[in-house]
Amino acid sequence: MTGLPVADLGTVRRAGWDLIARDRRAVAVILVLHVAATLAGLAAPWLLGVIVDEVVAGAGTGTVDRLALAIVGCVVVQTVISRYAQYAGHRFGERAVAQLREEFVRRTLALPVSVVERAGTGDLATRSSVDVATVGVTVRQVVPVVVIASAQLTLLFGVIFVLHPVLGVAALAGLPSIVAVTRWYLRRASTAYLAEGAASAELTEALTTTAEGARTVEALRLSGERVAHGRARIGRVWTSRRRTLRLRSVFYPVVESSYPLPIAAVLLVGGLCLDNGLVTLGEVVAAALYLQQAIGPLDQILQWMEQAQRGLASFARVLGVGQVPPEPRGRGASPAGKQIEVRGVRFGYADGPDVLHGIDLTVRPGERLAIVGPSGAGKSTLARLLAGIDRPRHGEVSLGGCPVTDLDPAQRRRRIALVTQEHHVFIGSLRDNLAFAAPDATDAQMRSALVAVGADWYADLPDDLDTELGDGARELSPAEAQQLALARLVLADPHALILDEATAALDPTTARRTERALAAVLAGRTVIAIAHRLNTAHDADRVAVMEDGRITELGSHDELLRADGAYAALWRSWHG
Ligand code: ADP
Repeated sequence: MTGLPVADLGTVRRAGWDLIARDRRAVAVILVLHVAATLAGLAAPWLLGVIVDEVVAGAGTGTVDRLALAIVGCVVVQTVISRYAQYAGHRFGERAVAQLREEFVRRTLALPVSVVERAGTGDLATRSSVDVATVGVTVRQVVPVVVIASAQLTLLFGVIFVLHPVLGVAALAGLPSIVAVTRWYLRRASTAYLAEGAASAELTEALTTTAEGARTVEALRLSGERVAHGRARIGRVWTSRRRTLRLRSVFYPVVESSYPLPIAAVLLVGGLCLDNGLVTLGEVVAAALYLQQAIGPLDQILQWMEQAQRGLASFARVLGVGQVPPEPRGRGASPAGKQIEVRGVRFGYADGPDVLHGIDLTVRPGERLAIVGPSGAGKSTLARLLAGIDRPRHGEVSLGGCPVTDLDPAQRRRRIALVTQEHHVFIGSLRDNLAFAAPDATDAQMRSALVAVGADWYADLPDDLDTELGDGARELSPAEAQQLALARLVLADPHALILDEATAALDPTTARRTERALAAVLAGRTVIAIAHRLNTAHDADRVAVMEDGRITELGSHDELLRADGAYAALWRSWHG
């Protein structure tokens, strides 16, 4: 399984800037408000220092009261401005996250089916749930906090330098251990968190496949194997989490114990300088108070750095989805006609060996072709190539002289529809479920499509087309779901359709009735049916027999019976 790509750091950085650039004015307003709030906050320690110096100089209570009142005023101003700054910050965050989500949905929907199949749905599921949520938290909470805290720190240290450069140098001298451990942490963290993300995705994948295949697991007594598989994945998540935990358990204690160092340095140097008359007592007090204030933003930055790392890793995974080359767009090609031609087609999955070994086949417009053969012969694979989901390794599948993989995907699906045994009933009303195929269909058209595929059960639904289907509502049986899929097909009204065991969930009588009804509705359309029941083949214009990735017999039912080959043997054993 090849996972979806992960964006590199450069791409993540560009996307981050892009997010900010799109909302430039809001970001500017947020920054200005926060700087203003911080400046108002800087006044209090300063004024406190002034009070100390004034008292030392012998000032009376009047001066102290006035200065104290000024401190109160500054605190009120800071509070009010902070409130608006945070409000603006959250609004920006929400807008940015909404845009990210929309973009993610757009990118996901543009992914070629074959890429999603190769990557596994677990990877995509983790990216669209865990990763998008992590990025959301990061953008909404972490980025504003980190930006604001950085601005506060710069101002706080700046103001200490303004008080006296010696105090500033002393304050910085207390920082090396914090800087060193932070660099140590950052160098290791991003790979460790990426590995953690990848391990989580694998675990999700393992659990969802086990849950989806629960029946098979039970029937084949594979539970031991699946449990071992799950355990191995859990083990990997555990190892990767332990690695990040180890990083945190070195980082945080070192940092926390380093906080008092700058204050101690300032008090020590300040004390010495005080004796020489280089600084005043008020200046040393103010500097110590500023450093005390700096612990808040410093702590916030370091606290959130882990989340920021996670956010960065998740953002890289979210952006990676957009790096999958899109489905090959139609090179403006438009088919001239409806004839389907398969010429010298060879195909194999991923790096595997060929499973189709040179297929040649012409299907005339309006022809009904049945494909029969033993399991594993390559029938479904041929169906995927005919529908343009996969591209042949050699040779070509064309519609009206134009390679099907060169058609614009939307146009291709309108011309050739593939219906397999996998039917999805979406949570929503019966009408919603049908409207996917034809958004403009009227109620009457929907009803007649349901009737055409023999879905009589729809008449008994409590709310007609508005009946809610899916989990927790009316659950459809596999047979009903299959008929729903066929009704969608009738509404979509493609030129050609490929039915890959599309009636396998129906009982033989219903299946035959449904196929006949379908044939009447779809008269004039090209129908290629992969048949597991030979009466489908009997009703078709021609039958192709596939064995080992090759077409070994081709002709009408009667011709093949006369030829007395594999098909004739199959028919005889089936019939009697
Ligand atoms: P049929 O529909 O006739 O039963 P398939 O087209 O499903 O046959 O399979 C043809 C061959 O391709 C088989 O050997 C099968 O194991 C292989 N195959 C089918 N699907 C895949 C896949 N997704 N990845 C790898 N091999 C596959």
